Amino acid sequence: MLKYTHNTLHCKPCGIIRARFLSDCVPREVSSSLTATTASCRYHDKVYSDCHEPVKTGEAMTPFTQQRDVARVVKLLEREYPVRGTALEFHDAWQLLTATILSAQCTDAMVNKVTPLLFAAYSSPCALGHADILEVEAIVKPTGFYHTKARAIVAESRELCEKWNSTIVPDMDFLTALPGVGRKTANVVLAHAFGRQAVVVDTHVKRLAYRIGFSSSLDPTRIESDLMQLVKESEWNALCDALIAHGRTVCNARHPACATCFLASLCPRNGVASPVAAHKKDQA
Ligand code: SF4
Repeated sequence: MLKYTHNTLHCKPCGIIRARFLSDCVPREVSSSLTATTASCRYHDKVYSDCHEPVKTGEAMTPFTQQRDVARVVKLLEREYPVRGTALEFHDAWQLLTATILSAQCTDAMVNKVTPLLFAAYSSPCALGHADILEVEAIVKPTGFYHTKARAIVAESRELCEKWNSTIVPDMDFLTALPGVGRKTANVVLAHAFGRQAVVVDTHVKRLAYRIGFSSSLDPTRIESDLMQLVKESEWNALCDALIAHGRTVCNARHPACATCFLASLCPRNGVASPVAAHKKDQA
């Protein structure tokens, strides 16, 4: 077992002890009103004052353990979560693309409340692409980060309208060339609007791929590549849907229910604090 002599750092949002990523955790801001250093987490957009709180100096950590029985874990996950698809509601690829952009840092349920209003007001890429930005902001405000999101969906819609006759081509390069569209969003559209096999690396897939030992990386592009090599293409959608469902219901960021998890005997629990350590931390 490796012994780390420096501070171990615990990132609350992703529930991962990041000693090995210490160099990634660059303090960005120090507030005089806070006793702890405020640090930016490379894997989260926000600055969390409690994100990199030292847990214990010199705490022992096990190195990352690769999953040895991928086929069995995948089979169990897919059996446990047979329902496929996205929770986002949409009628065409453009609506799903727009809804996915709005879903960043927001629940699908909230997006589903907002999009009917948005698409009633702007029923096509051309309508939304030439909308008044302040009116769009007012509609999408409940999804958070509404200045950025409003600009992103208007820009994406305008480009579709003006350059592509409001048609979305089911192609990764086409999608990621649109303003505000990254690989995760593109993969959601490819998988759920076009029925293609795609590896969607959202916050749940990123966290679980590491914990379960599918990928030693926390970089979404690396994780996507690792998962694509681990399972055959025909299972990409099923695996990601199952990981997302498991992340929402059992293996959540702060309190993974390892004691009752059906994967407990197969999961190396990479980066998951022991129940005792987690309990002490919660009590502190
Ligand atoms: S055993 Fe724990 S860490 Fe592993 S998948 Fe289950 S809840 Fe997550």
